[in-house]
Amino acid sequence: MNPRPAMKNLLKQTQSIFKPDGLLSTLIEAYEFRSGQLEMASAVAQTLAGGKLVVEAETGIGKTLAYLIPAVLSRQKIIISTNTLNLQEQILSDAIPFIQQNIDPQLSALCVKGRQNYLCLYRWQQFAVHPQFEMFAPGKTRKKIERWLESTTTGDRAELPWLEDDSALWREISTTASQCLGSKCPNDKSCFITELRKKAAATRLLIVNHHLFFSDLALRREGHGEVLPRYESVIFDEAHHLENVATNFFGSSLSHFQLLELVKDVKLSAAMLPEDKKEQVFQVADPLHLRSEHFTAMFPAQIGKFPLQGFIDEHPEWEEQIQAVSDRLSSLTSTLSRMAIEGEVWQGLANRCEDLQSRLIAIAGLLEIPQEEKYIRWYDRREKNIVLTASPIDIAAELNTVLYPEVRSAVFTSGTLTVGDNFTYFLNRLGLDQDTETLSLASPFDYKNRTMLYVPAHTPQNPFPQPDRKEFPTEIQFIMNRILLASGGRALVLFTSFYNMRKIYPFLVENLPYPVFIQGEAPRNKLLQSFQQQTNSVLLAVASFWEGINVPGESLSCVIIDKLPFEVPSDPVIMARINKIREEGGNPFMDFQLPRAILALRQGVGRLMRTSTDKGLLAILDIRLFTKQYGHLFLRSLPPSPITRELKDVESFFEN
Ligand code: SF4
Repeated sequence: MNPRPAMKNLLKQTQSIFKPDGLLSTLIEAYEFRSGQLEMASAVAQTLAGGKLVVEAETGIGKTLAYLIPAVLSRQKIIISTNTLNLQEQILSDAIPFIQQNIDPQLSALCVKGRQNYLCLYRWQQFAVHPQFEMFAPGKTRKKIERWLESTTTGDRAELPWLEDDSALWREISTTASQCLGSKCPNDKSCFITELRKKAAATRLLIVNHHLFFSDLALRREGHGEVLPRYESVIFDEAHHLENVATNFFGSSLSHFQLLELVKDVKLSAAMLPEDKKEQVFQVADPLHLRSEHFTAMFPAQIGKFPLQGFIDEHPEWEEQIQAVSDRLSSLTSTLSRMAIEGEVWQGLANRCEDLQSRLIAIAGLLEIPQEEKYIRWYDRREKNIVLTASPIDIAAELNTVLYPEVRSAVFTSGTLTVGDNFTYFLNRLGLDQDTETLSLASPFDYKNRTMLYVPAHTPQNPFPQPDRKEFPTEIQFIMNRILLASGGRALVLFTSFYNMRKIYPFLVENLPYPVFIQGEAPRNKLLQSFQQQTNSVLLAVASFWEGINVPGESLSCVIIDKLPFEVPSDPVIMARINKIREEGGNPFMDFQLPRAILALRQGVGRLMRTSTDKGLLAILDIRLFTKQYGHLFLRSLPPSPITRELKDVESFFEN
């Protein structure tokens, strides 16, 4: 194995690859030197000696190679963490083979996903003999999985393209951390996840996602072992998601569904026992099921997320109800522990039961949570489920305790981190010092000549409604229609609410001579495929479609955004963060809500230009860009497209 280069050599080697006449220029056909890419790669190489770096690299910089190549050259054990499986797989299938072929043939790299992506042999064997199996996997499905199991070395569901995204069968034959029996599992020796962990320990570059990264960090923090092997440095791509993901994992949650799953798994295992023992188990499992149903029925039917404290104050029976569920969990734990002589599986189930009980007690407030004021307790009412959660209001302190002191270097990158050229918001939220090294690299795409930004005109004589006016949806549907006729369809229309999207959809379907798709009518991937293949089609979408969509070329020549994406602060975690900033004397709007809206808008806008040859129109139908004082901050954060307030300019733009 080659020795590690001294850090000044690492910088030199990196630059020799990215410089104008460097190695990349000889390897890539039609290579175009990008100074931003060289700058980013050099900064990453320097940071790997020790330190932290935050890089905003807009589309077109080539940021993946800019962090991967110095990471590989450094020969450190490095984790690359992304937000999505898609990006994980893209790095492994595109960038890694390129680096192995041309830069480091000895490079070992592995994609590690969350455990629910891998088949659990124990659950598969249990479920395959269960009477319900045929219902979940009718016809030839069993044969297909059996045949796959004969050849797969990974157990990764990505190898089963026929499996639906939300397959109920897969939920039964994969495992969550709490369901896994670990070293007590009879299938431990042949377990895909155990095997994956061994491989990960021997691999230099691990590509994971933020969920897995933070679930590992949360386990380490609690002293409950680890999922990932020790690493020296970490590089976070799509780093603008880190606060949300870390919030989920540094908190604690428990759901009605988890309690029912536990009962189901206990009964599934008990089905193999002699009749009398089976009866004993059922006698303690069934009352838990019943109690959990009672408990869930206590919550109002209104779907959404709500603070728990208000609910507790209005329900004097709260403590009694929690105690009843807790008592049932306690009885079940004792019975399951006594069953341990029947096989190790039972101790695993007892541990899981105990874990759920301690989470229930902590979230419900029966125990005093240390530093409780740092957590917000809330519930999420879904159609058939209730999830109770205690989330940290701030993750900065956690990161400074469990992550930053443990790594040699940490690099944070994304296409959207700054607000009006300023990193303060991102640094604050992640607990990074204000003097952390930062770098902002603008897109090399020619926005000035290839794009235009349209915002509706607004004059005292001819006013245009603000988004809170009731005539707003009607006004914007006419404007959208006119823009879409000018663009010949080929547009992504992004809404901030389902309400506006559903209200405007029938009008556009009736008035446009193009196919109009709407989010929800088909799975996301199928919808995107149809949108891309039918060039003149229009796609209406909300939420997750604001980012991660990569449709280069003609099919996406126009992005229309209905209004500035300010969040309605009804989410209890967001509300708690706003209150905390206010209590500390800050300005929640300027310090928190505005930066979040700007970053979200930049993500939406970023769907337009995916390659240097793309061109098109951005339309933001919200006059607050010009009528409110904060509007200039949004405008300063957008790409440098020429701005027009006239629809006739939009029509000429497309005619030309
Ligand atoms: S160790 Fe866990 S994941 Fe592996 S087969 Fe057993 S229960 Fe399933």
